[in-house]
Amino acid sequence: MTTPNMNYANLKDSYLFFNIGQKVRRYLEQNPDKRVLRLGIGDITRPLCDVVIKALHEAVDDQASFDRFHGYMPEVGAPFLREAIRNHYADRGIELKVDEVFVSSGASDELGDILDLFDRSNSALVIEPAYPAYVDANVIAGREIIHLASSKENGFLPHPTDDAKADIIYICSPNNPTGAVFSRSQLKEWVDFANKHGSVILFDAAYEAFIEDDSLPRSVFEIEGAKTCAIEICSLSKTAGFTGTRLGYTVIPKALVRNGMSFNDMWVRNRTTKTNGVSYILQKGGAAVFTPEGQQQIKENISVYKNNAKLIMNALDEIGLWFCGGKNSPYIWLECPKGMGSWEFFDYLLNEIQVVGTPGQGFGECGEGYFRFSTFGSPEDTKEAARRLCELLR
Ligand code: PLP
Repeated sequence: MTTPNMNYANLKDSYLFFNIGQKVRRYLEQNPDKRVLRLGIGDITRPLCDVVIKALHEAVDDQASFDRFHGYMPEVGAPFLREAIRNHYADRGIELKVDEVFVSSGASDELGDILDLFDRSNSALVIEPAYPAYVDANVIAGREIIHLASSKENGFLPHPTDDAKADIIYICSPNNPTGAVFSRSQLKEWVDFANKHGSVILFDAAYEAFIEDDSLPRSVFEIEGAKTCAIEICSLSKTAGFTGTRLGYTVIPKALVRNGMSFNDMWVRNRTTKTNGVSYILQKGGAAVFTPEGQQQIKENISVYKNNAKLIMNALDEIGLWFCGGKNSPYIWLECPKGMGSWEFFDYLLNEIQVVGTPGQGFGECGEGYFRFSTFGSPEDTKEAARRLCELLR
């Protein structure tokens, strides 16, 4: 008889977004005249920028032409896109080889698939509060998970300590849900720690485009020593509005070697075995993001979310609530007022002012007592939510 992967039985049910949806639905059934403002979503609301749409249309037309049509694409990514990404890194002073860049269908896919490169006996460190997929992907693989709680005291940016020794180390910066961003010196501590212990850092840079403070690292490869201990996973989802279009990229340096095995070579072998690459059309759209015009247009979209962040941050300052994130991240992480629990605060905001956020407890137990606002909503709703927050909590 077939034996299923019994590790699935060890997954904890995730009720976070289900519960939020249920509570909002029930509230609206009882209060149909009320307008609920959603600052809980992690999805973007602005469409793809013009230069990307134009490139996508042109690529569709290419597929209708005998001369310009593309069949299977290289599994590791089209040379034109790998080169555009390599040049994008070079513009920021990071030298990569084109074959250190892999095109992906997005960070989620990659964060799950990349675990194929690690032995099941490897342990995985997850700094909490965390994006839930890190834990679940390793539970499915049957790995030991080491949970490292972060807190207000360390600004949700913990230092490596002996408790954090693990084979795989997840670092998400800017962080979802806390919005906290590791400084260069803080990240250097983790890079040195990983090199010392022979660990590999999986650096989730899904929100790097939101960093506006030039002193903060957008890539782990800005840190000396990272090429021997890190894999960087990036996404065009939040950077360029590709959540529904799907495109990302991953950097695996040639210098990343353990037990004589090159992670770059292994990933080439993995991709050529397990995928037939990302669609030509999407890769053409993605390449447009890295043109000067594309960079300008995505910045304009991001600036709308950044203005939303300012509205919420100003409201929280006015109210006097502690928060982090927002300035270099699309997420704002605040301490619930008056010692409220995170679900208690959720109900309070929904019932009193019809503002929906995400309870921190859903991102790990150390998130209890905290709350996440996303800045991906519309400017109108965000402005009104900020006004209602001030009126209620000032
Ligand atoms: N990593 C983090 C921290 C995220 O918050 C998300 C999506 O919300 C992802 C990865 C997944 O991104 P993608 O849309 O590229 O799969």
